[in-house]
Amino acid sequence: MKNKCKQCSKEFKPNRWDAKYCSSKCKNSYNNRNKSRAYHITKPINDILWKNRNILRSFYRKQEVHVNELKRAGFNYNYTTHEYIDEQKTRVTFCYDFGFQQINSNTLKIIYHGKIQIDESY
Ligand SMILES: [Zn+2]
Repeated sequence: MKNKCKQCSKEFKPNRWDAKYCSSKCKNSYNNRNKSRAYHITKPINDILWKNRNILRSFYRKQEVHVNELKRAGFNYNYTTHEYIDEQKTRVTFCYDFGFQQINSNTLKIIYHGKIQIDESY
C-alpha cells in the first residue's frame, strides 16, 4: 500500500497506514505553511485588539474616560474580545484583561480583570 504525501504529493510506503507525509521534513513544511497562513489572517486583528487593550490600560488610572478620548487615542470600538452583563445589568466589554463599562451616554469606566473568568459553557 502507498500513501500520497500531503506536502510534496509523492507516493511513499508508509510506516503507519495513516501516515500523511513522506518525511518529517515534509510534515514540518506543511505545518509551518499552514501556521503562517493562519498567522497572516489573524495578525491584523490581534494587532488592533492589542492596541485597544493598551489604550484601555493607559486610561486605567483615570478610571473614567470620555468616549471621544478613547477614540482620539485610536481605540477601535469594533474590536473587542468578550463581554458580560454585571449584577447592575450593565454590559462590560473587554479587550483581553482590560474593559470598559458605560456610566452615562459619554462616559466610560475602565475595568481591569487580572484574572479573567472564561465561560466555557458555550
Ligand atoms: Zn513529501
